[in-house]
Amino acid sequence: MLDNLTARLSRVVKTLKGEARLTEANTQEMLREVRLALLEADVALPVVREFVARVKEKALGEDVAGSLTPGQALVGVVHKELTTLMGGDLGPNATELSLAQQPPAVILMAGLQGSGKTTTTGKLARWLAEGGHVQNGRKTGKKKVLVVSADVYRPAAIEQLKTVAAQAGVDFMPSTADQKPEDIARNALDHARRHHYDVLIVDTAGRLGIDEVLMNEIRALHALLNPIETLFVVDAMLGQDAVNVAKAFNDALPLTGVVLTKLDGDARGGAALSVRQITGKPLKFVGVSEKLAGLEPFHPERMAQRVLG
Ligand code: GDP
Repeated sequence: MLDNLTARLSRVVKTLKGEARLTEANTQEMLREVRLALLEADVALPVVREFVARVKEKALGEDVAGSLTPGQALVGVVHKELTTLMGGDLGPNATELSLAQQPPAVILMAGLQGSGKTTTTGKLARWLAEGGHVQNGRKTGKKKVLVVSADVYRPAAIEQLKTVAAQAGVDFMPSTADQKPEDIARNALDHARRHHYDVLIVDTAGRLGIDEVLMNEIRALHALLNPIETLFVVDAMLGQDAVNVAKAFNDALPLTGVVLTKLDGDARGGAALSVRQITGKPLKFVGVSEKLAGLEPFHPERMAQRVLG
């Protein structure tokens, strides 16, 4: 990363040889390059502006030590700041999934249609069933997991979750399109309690855009289920639009974390920074494949490198 961004800045860096400090004058041009790099990575414009302002503030007056050029020093500041904003400031355990609740721990999945909710439900279920869960840095063992779909608008969605659950090797609670989402949720919670499940993951309906009816519905599900985790699933390819979607979901629900999907695609991951900034909530996982094994814990440092390109 440092090499790459340095390459971007090298033209500017050359003209600054011999300067010992980052100053208003010599950082201005470099910051323009940083701004461009972030916009290319699809970070939303207001987020870029705020970020560049922060970097400028941190960089000014920074002594350029030893062999560092002002350009390299600035890149260092950018990288550090980006890692911090990606969640490095939240501490080492911020990306962990919390299950610290009288079982069943309920996880509510929220997001637009096509964001990868159902796939991520399967991935998470598999990960928990196979013992991937970590708390305070330690694995907590295999979990008994139940999944249910409250998407009554697309019968295919319920079928899809059934297939995914079978692949993940976890139990699937049947539901039908003529049921009310709240009844589905209530039944599933009751079933999970009676059969001593550790975790219940509730997949929900998504629309193509932000929709007040649907927001009210998921709010009602949240009130009924009292989930310990409410995960906002967002497609990394959404780019700039991720900001509006994240804002709408964050306003509607007390989100506890974010899953950024489809990072195996071309997206540079700028949406990670945008969503983190808008919601203030930690990114917890990234989706890196269509396959159920394609789920990874989120690493702020790695994402910072990806965004810088
Ligand atoms: P939902 O409508 O939010 O439930 O979205 P789905 O789970 O049905 O996912 C929509 C599409 O995105 C499907 O074709 C998934 O296979 C695909 N998908 C989901 N997550 C990922 C991911 O991390 N990487 C890739 N490449 N595809 C994904």
